[in-house]
Amino acid sequence: MYDTLREYCLLRDVAKSSGLGLVCVACDLGFRDQDVLYKHFDTEEDHNGIHNGLSKREGDFILFLDRYRTAMGWETISKDDFPIKFNQTGRRPGRRPFYTFFEVDFVLEKKGQLKFNTLDRSLAIVWEVVRNAKKDYVCPLCLVLCSTTKAFYYHCNQLKDDVHTGLAYKGPDCQLFLPHYFTALKATVPETELPLGRGRKGTYSFHECFRLEFVLQWKQGE
Ligand SMILES: [Zn+2]
Ligand SMILES: [Zn+2]
Repeated sequence: MYDTLREYCLLRDVAKSSGLGLVCVACDLGFRDQDVLYKHFDTEEDHNGIHNGLSKREGDFILFLDRYRTAMGWETISKDDFPIKFNQTGRRPGRRPFYTFFEVDFVLEKKGQLKFNTLDRSLAIVWEVVRNAKKDYVCPLCLVLCSTTKAFYYHCNQLKDDVHTGLAYKGPDCQLFLPHYFTALKATVPETELPLGRGRKGTYSFHECFRLEFVLQWKQGE
């Protein structure tokens, strides 16, 4: 149970750190902001214009809730369940807060609860969100997904702090890499478990240490 919870929390952080903070409730794709998400709703015909009620009249909001409920598998939806609060006059607030209906935490919690009431369901959804990004590597320190190791090294070179500089080390001395790697993971991995490869001229290749699955296996949460 603890390990499932740890994996779930880490993946949720991966999604947020990687700009996948909003989730399409119809297909579990992650998006960085509402404009991109709403564009996605526009282009996917089977999504039924789920967002159309968000920017127009009150009546459209009822239509939105209807489509949203169907996409979520949410049989009943009461105002108490909304991730936004209505003001005293009962009028809905302006357009901005509606992204909260698609926020990764809210969607994962509600979809998990609604269908099976288990953490496993939420874990499966967050895996889907992260896998849909089609990026195999992750920074073990800030949990940002990277499509290639080259993109990962670029990320390290942008940040340039001690840990990132250590993570980007490429050379023959493991000890110039491992302490930084363990700091980033907040864990120590036995050397026999480390997927170290051999590069040219006696150097090590640390690429596999940044693979998402491997990082998730060892990384400790806050
Ligand atoms: Zn979608
Ligand atoms: Zn990083």
